[in-house]
Amino acid sequence: MDSSRTFDAIVVGLGSMGSATLYHLARRGQRVLGLEQFDVPNALGSSVGVNRIIRLAYAEHPDYVPLLVRAYELWRELETLSRERLLVITGGLDVGRENEETVRGSLLSCQVHHLVHELLDAGTVQRRFPGYQLPHEMVAVYQPDGGFLMSERCVVAHTVAALDLGAEIHGRERAISWSANGAGVRVTTESGTYEAGSLVVTAGPWVGELVAELAPLAIPERQVLLWTQPRRPEFFRTQAFPVFTMQAPEGRFYGFPVFGVPGFKIGKYHHRRQTVRLDAIDRACHLEDETVLREGLRRYFPDADGPTLAMKVCLFTNTSDEHFILDRHPDHPQVAIAAGFSGHGFKFCSVVGEIMADLVLEGATRHKIDPFRLARL
Ligand SMILES: Cc1cc2nc3c(=O)[nH]c(=O)nc-3n(C[C@H](O)[C@H](O)[C@H](O)COP(=O)(O)OP(=O)(O)OC[C@H]3O[C@@H](n4cnc5c(N)ncnc54)[C@H](O)[C@@H]3O)c2cc1C
Repeated sequence: MDSSRTFDAIVVGLGSMGSATLYHLARRGQRVLGLEQFDVPNALGSSVGVNRIIRLAYAEHPDYVPLLVRAYELWRELETLSRERLLVITGGLDVGRENEETVRGSLLSCQVHHLVHELLDAGTVQRRFPGYQLPHEMVAVYQPDGGFLMSERCVVAHTVAALDLGAEIHGRERAISWSANGAGVRVTTESGTYEAGSLVVTAGPWVGELVAELAPLAIPERQVLLWTQPRRPEFFRTQAFPVFTMQAPEGRFYGFPVFGVPGFKIGKYHHRRQTVRLDAIDRACHLEDETVLREGLRRYFPDADGPTLAMKVCLFTNTSDEHFILDRHPDHPQVAIAAGFSGHGFKFCSVVGEIMADLVLEGATRHKIDPFRLARL
């Protein structure tokens, strides 16, 4: 390898956000280098576990909806480019008590952005989607555009599309540090030094190792997913079962119909609230992990409460307000950062790639990213 090589832009971290960013930079004619510490793709970051929910009725804040509209558009474009089905529409339910955050937030986004939706009582949910057995005090916002992305395939599709456009990718090469180099940057890895006009850091849970200011602001947390064999498989097919997020007394669950791999998939936000040290991540799955998820399964989806098929560990990277960080570095405008996705970022990575390309090439973006500025934290 050359001891020092020059590119227009470098992207560090080729998980969900980095692969999308690499593609968007390459699409704009940039000579780009992507650096990934593990394999490309890998199962050690935040996009493992087959699929991820995408929903328009965004309970977290109505500001996310315009970004989602663009994200859907870009996902469809990527499907065309890759000739692969990446986005599966099932409809989505946001479930909880009517006065609680999930239902209120979802309704608010629907109202502000005039999204087609229905507010369903527990009985109606069960009649229409018999996999759900909700207590009478729960309601659900049904929004027909909800569904899921084949997340692991999306990372591959973005990566292949970037390679097809001439991007260079170095897997198994960890970036150790970077520094400003005049108006550009110099990145040092385990095996070389590279120079470029700009840098995008999309290092997921590891972001604090590359941008010290983010270490206390973007905190990695261990999560676990569970796949079970449904007792009534017909209730959990894609045509019969919309994806969901659910605010329950036991915590906030989310889940998917059976697709791609065997089993009904369920997870719980902030699972066992285990923040992790990156050099000591427990990647094994334990009985305690399963118990947390079985609790929701038994109570709300008893017909999916069959034998365990699989479990997987994955990482969230949380900010204190659980909103994203999409910004330029405070001291180095040639460096952009996408981080702190707090367990709900995947659906956005198509548009985040576009935003990162905007920030390093234009210095600004037409997308509204004020709520995601670093300074707020
Ligand atoms: C269990 C679980 C369920 C989720 N469910 C959903 C969902 O349903 N819907 C949704 O929208 N979102 C969901 N999310 C969140 C979503 O998956 C994440 O927000 C998103 O994947 C974050 O992507 P990222 O690119 O920031 O991180 P990652 O995908 O982890 O990528 C970071 C990459 O950077 C690399 N890297 C780090 N440091 C270096 C370095 N120094 N040098 C080189 N490479 C480096 C890493 O190896 C890694 O490959 C979920 C997350 C989890 C864990």
